[in-house]
Amino acid sequence: MGKPAKKGCDWKRFLRNNWLLLSTVAAVVLGVAALDSNISGKIGLRAVVYYFCTTVIAVILGIVLVVSIKPGVTQKVNEIDRTGSSPEVSSVDAMLDLIRNMFPENLVQACFQQYKTTREEVKRPNEPGTNRTEASVTAIMTTAISKNRTKEYKVIGMYSDGINVLGLIVFCLVFGIVIGKMGERGQILVDFFNALSDATMKIVQIIMCYMPVGILFLIAGKIIEVEDWEIFRKLGLYMATVLSGLAIHSIVILPLIYFLIVRKNPFRFAMGMAQALLTAVMISSSSATLPVTFRCAEEKNRVDKRITRFVLPVGATINMDGTALYEAVAAVFIAQLNDLDLSIGQIVTISVTATAASIGAAGVPQAGLVTMVIVLSAVGLPAEDVTLIIAVDWLLDRFRTMVNVLGDAFGTGIVEKLSKKELEQMDVSSEVNIVNPF
Ligand code: ASP
Repeated sequence: MGKPAKKGCDWKRFLRNNWLLLSTVAAVVLGVAALDSNISGKIGLRAVVYYFCTTVIAVILGIVLVVSIKPGVTQKVNEIDRTGSSPEVSSVDAMLDLIRNMFPENLVQACFQQYKTTREEVKRPNEPGTNRTEASVTAIMTTAISKNRTKEYKVIGMYSDGINVLGLIVFCLVFGIVIGKMGERGQILVDFFNALSDATMKIVQIIMCYMPVGILFLIAGKIIEVEDWEIFRKLGLYMATVLSGLAIHSIVILPLIYFLIVRKNPFRFAMGMAQALLTAVMISSSSATLPVTFRCAEEKNRVDKRITRFVLPVGATINMDGTALYEAVAAVFIAQLNDLDLSIGQIVTISVTATAASIGAAGVPQAGLVTMVIVLSAVGLPAEDVTLIIAVDWLLDRFRTMVNVLGDAFGTGIVEKLSKKELEQMDVSSEVNIVNPF
């Protein structure tokens, strides 16, 4: 089997792929495994259903906005698309590929082998003037689209740098659920993934120390490369898209869900959380905001502590509506900047991976930007293109963190309302225990 040509060690790819594998696997497995702990199944299940539904709604909202506003599309590209012959990418094929990729035959193979397949597939047409083994995935995809080679497009669109990301995430979800249910015997694996997660986070922290220097050069490099200053208009539109999505989600969708279920004024509830929301905007971290979120939910909004103590900490790690919405918008925006027409299958892939990436993101500043790599990789976009949105991320991070905290807070009110019966039962049994401890 021929090996792809190597020019020394590609450290950037090595770091990115290993980090992606280790941190994503650990975070997703842990996030799901934690769900089974110390709270009655029904209450936990309600919380998870709430987390999942609101995150999916946020992702759909983001996709609808970015596809209709098109912040990354230039006028020129639109004209070409309208007049040129559009590639015949079959969405049925793409959907079937998507499902096939969710269940890899062999997990180890899913992490490595597709790299060769992809490269071999791409090398085949042997276009003059293109160094195909070195070309970025985007360039390859763009070529494939313009040459109407739908088969290539289909294969490449699902993989990047040798990892079947979607398959890996599906496996982690199942694995996490199973070890969460194993009780004490599964604890050793939970501890292992905890340590793995801590170790990868430490590495990320070290890298973060050098990040300002890296970002400086990356942005400088991008600015030097700028041929048309359109990029600033596009970035402005991109920010407006993310912010309007966050605004709609927090002012319309979440309050509406709360009102429909709890039948109380959602804005009064949100006002009760004001201090926590402000803290989130100031420190960009839902985990660090947690103590304030507890206080607001329990003291101002009088939510039962048995609910807040489960819904808030788990929510701070896995329920990130703002992050999910932002990841979906950012991935489509980057695709638009690369003049890529996304197929329905790829949009579904973005939605699924944005949901998973938001679950995997830690509640710390700019964690969403790091897990963006998963979403970009899943649709074959170059992970380096994250640099295109880094410059404005510090601001967007503050607002998406606020939406993350608001989503968790509304979750406490909703789960409390739905769990009234269980809570009363718990009250009765604890009273019985107090009266007659034997
Ligand atoms: N900063 C966000 C949070 O803590 C995560 C993100 O970067 O989206 O919730």
